[in-house]
Amino acid sequence: MTSVFDDLVGQEHIIDILKGAVVASRSGEESQGMTHAWVFTGPPGSGRSSAALAFAQALICPNNGCGTCNDCNSAKTHSHPDVEIIRTEGLSIKVEEVREILTRVAWEPAMGGWRVLVIEDADRLTESAANALLKAIEEPGTRTVWLLCAPTLHDVLPTIRSRCRHLQLRTPSLEAVTKVLIKRDNIAPIMADFAARVSQGHIGRAKYLAKNESARINRKKIMHLPFQLSSLAAAFQAAQTLINLATAEANASSDERDEKEVQKLQEAYGKGATGRGMATGGAKAVKELEREQKSRSTRMVRDSIDGALLDLATFYRDVMMVHSGNTDSIINSDICEQILSYATNSHSHSIINKISAIEGARENLAHNSAPLATCEALMCQLAYS
Ligand SMILES: [Zn+2]
Repeated sequence: MTSVFDDLVGQEHIIDILKGAVVASRSGEESQGMTHAWVFTGPPGSGRSSAALAFAQALICPNNGCGTCNDCNSAKTHSHPDVEIIRTEGLSIKVEEVREILTRVAWEPAMGGWRVLVIEDADRLTESAANALLKAIEEPGTRTVWLLCAPTLHDVLPTIRSRCRHLQLRTPSLEAVTKVLIKRDNIAPIMADFAARVSQGHIGRAKYLAKNESARINRKKIMHLPFQLSSLAAAFQAAQTLINLATAEANASSDERDEKEVQKLQEAYGKGATGRGMATGGAKAVKELEREQKSRSTRMVRDSIDGALLDLATFYRDVMMVHSGNTDSIINSDICEQILSYATNSHSHSIINKISAIEGARENLAHNSAPLATCEALMCQLAYS
């Protein structure tokens, strides 16, 4: 029999806990296995939100998460009345949004079972939003379950996390990711192996790379940057190149979606028929949507720059591997020759400095530093450390 938990790659250690909680949730009382607030943490791409969604499905499914019934399917497509996925594509979740959610939670579940709220980016709750949420978690409705997702436990307010049961996802192994790309996404084995290796256990990124040639070309250009840092001018140029590539990458996926969304909204307001509908609220709604899209695009560009920096870090990590005599575990085996020659002409202490410079830049970006200036500083460090 299929199960919604089958899709969680490399997370066997939490699946038993979740299945146990689902069984306990049927007993009608909060027993040891079941509780009303959970935090799923794990590195990007490990599948935090997939795990939370699978759990939500299992809680509302009459067959404990069969993955095929109406309840499972409608939860997956975000149309189940008792499963709500809160996801932000902007930089933060604001208190107004949380308050609005809380007014809905006050009602009994529509289907008489559980009401499940999944907050995919609990790390993006503003402080006041987190405090509003805390009140709700402290006084749970008996049939409401909160599933929060965040990169680490430190990203969740201590007062909130102390009331939640914590599940830590693992980075899935190279073999597990390769297998799922071949089996689930029909990707050829050689490509699946390459994509899984360079994506470092990030399943979504691996799939995107495997299916997208322009992403692979962009990645290649990023991986070539370390060879171009011969002068200060070249370092500034490399920073601009990195920003341009990351922006192009982010825009490629968002432009098409933005346009579709505006079109859909305009249709909803009757544009095309008479155009009159747009005058009453339609234009305002389009403006609001465009504002959201801009915020999402900012976030996507930042994520894309972060991805490029992670790629760069794997380059220097490979050089370290060569220095340590361990050439078998090179991640970027497609540019093995270049890595070997770079390793011959560099010292380990300088490579360690470069890797920590990349980490520092990522941290600064996570705290909203200006992307270009951050990358310029980084490239200068990479050129001269
Ligand atoms: Zn089901």
